[in-house]
Amino acid sequence: MTLPRILFLLTALFFIGAVHADPRVDINSPSVNLTDFRIGYFIDDSRELTYAQAREQQYTETTSTTTLGTNALVTWFKVTLDNSTQQNLSLDLQLPHAYHVKSVQLYAERSGQLVKSEELDLEHVAESNLMYRGVAIYPLDLPAGETTTVYVRSFAYSHQWFALNIFDEERSRKALVGVANDIALLVGMMLALVFYNFLLYFATSKKENIFYSFYLISGVVWIALSYGLVASLFDAYGPSIFMLNLSLITMPIFLLLFMMAIFETKHVYPTEHRFLQALLLPLCGMFVWGLFDITAALKPASSAAAIMMLVTLSVSISLWRKGNPLAKFFLIGHGFFVFFNVLAVLFYKGLVTPSYLSSHGTGIGIMLEAIMLAFIISYRIKILEDLRESQDDLKKQAATDPLTRLYNRRHFFAEAGYLMKAAAARHQPMAILAIDIDNFKQVNDAHGHAVGDQVLTTLAHALKTQSRGNDLLARFGGEEFVMLLPEADTEKALACAERVRHAVATQSIEASPGEYLKLTVSIGVASVNLASDSIESALNRADDALYEAKNNGRDRVCLSGDNTTS
Ligand code: GH3
Ligand code: MG
Ligand code: MG
Repeated sequence: MTLPRILFLLTALFFIGAVHADPRVDINSPSVNLTDFRIGYFIDDSRELTYAQAREQQYTETTSTTTLGTNALVTWFKVTLDNSTQQNLSLDLQLPHAYHVKSVQLYAERSGQLVKSEELDLEHVAESNLMYRGVAIYPLDLPAGETTTVYVRSFAYSHQWFALNIFDEERSRKALVGVANDIALLVGMMLALVFYNFLLYFATSKKENIFYSFYLISGVVWIALSYGLVASLFDAYGPSIFMLNLSLITMPIFLLLFMMAIFETKHVYPTEHRFLQALLLPLCGMFVWGLFDITAALKPASSAAAIMMLVTLSVSISLWRKGNPLAKFFLIGHGFFVFFNVLAVLFYKGLVTPSYLSSHGTGIGIMLEAIMLAFIISYRIKILEDLRESQDDLKKQAATDPLTRLYNRRHFFAEAGYLMKAAAARHQPMAILAIDIDNFKQVNDAHGHAVGDQVLTTLAHALKTQSRGNDLLARFGGEEFVMLLPEADTEKALACAERVRHAVATQSIEASPGEYLKLTVSIGVASVNLASDSIESALNRADDALYEAKNNGRDRVCLSGDNTTS
């Protein structure tokens, strides 16, 4: 026999075997814990077959947890149970995914006779005692040594995700404990992130925190709904909570808003902004439509989701290529989201075997993206903080004199205005000192410019030491300094000026090793008339007084409008 012939025969055998599947389960012990066995399925495209018609069909073999996709809304499952023990068994058939079907019917027959039929319609679930927290439970008696065949008709909302477990009474109770614990953990983590982001929003007023929170809330609702947590926690399923599927539309809406906010697309990337806007509009339309007719609005949702993923991926690639520092992290998070969603879509279409990853793909994708977005938010806070620090540095540089580190003239005038207003409001006096080094040119000439600079720094330090915390001290020009003294009347101002003059006069400055310089300053004092003075006019009077002091022999303090010197 040639190889192609062998292959042909094997293929033919495979198909014959698949079509004529009549999976049997041998129950040979009273302790029953069946979660992975073979069953048969038959897709009823007409959706109208009765039990009598369905039992005549040919069934294909599959596993007891299976997904047949969106085209298998009405599917019949079949399994034959042989009780080969010596006792009658009371078992429970559990359908753990019953919370997301429209209805389930169960028929059991023995020797061709129907012995049991149960119907569970989720629109009238209150009337049934078959449903417990999202799990349908059918008690079934298997007489000793007899064969029972079970048919289950499952009518799904969107895609056929079916699982059948068979337990003895004790296992049945245990299986109901801790249903959806993993989902509860995931939802708990995401809710903590929501809470944290609300706090961040109240602290920083940044829109992205709010958008991210609502994105998370949408994700949490969808995950809790789709993976049975709402069913197991609140005992709620079916049409009464179908509206919660709106979260499938709000999730991309808030993701788009988040992207716009975090990348500041409106101002920085107008082209990408228009793409995101173009996507946002139909999604908002779908949301409004969903408010009125959620079932209809959800129909185009998967196509919309595919388009959305394409646009958001392209936009983030474009932002990454333009050098946005956050884009690569967004791309990683979004990459996870897209990968796991593609896996989930394959699962929903029945194209991959069900596994935890594929059946929970959307949830896992949402969670991984959510974690990455949280990272982006904290990274952006760091970027903004760095920016603020460098702006603070720049501001400081613009306000100070590089040699002495005292404020410069520009900052003095800006700040003096505030101080004058504050003093006027509090009815407090104010005075101004104009300080100039005597014969400074000679220092430069005799010792060089570098020593002159050093003298200026030392003098600046001395002035700082003599001033109080709320005095405003600035270097005005070469060797001229100005001090604005809040809360100082003439007497206090003169005393301060005298203290400065004395401190400078009694200080020796080391010009070169072993060589000391003596310096003096002349100071003009003027009191500021807060009712009529501007800072310039007060300063002019202090300058006049300084001129007086210079004329009267230097190393002295002179008060404006007064010829007395000290
Ligand atoms: P007076 O007692 O009349 O004030 O005499 P003076 O020599 O101090 O007066 P003048 O204003 O003529 O000279 C100021 C000198 O200050 C001129 C310049 O050489 C020096 N100067 C100005 N800015 C700086 C500086 O940043 N570093 C140094 N080393 N010298 C400076
Ligand atoms: Mg001088
Ligand atoms: Mg001068």
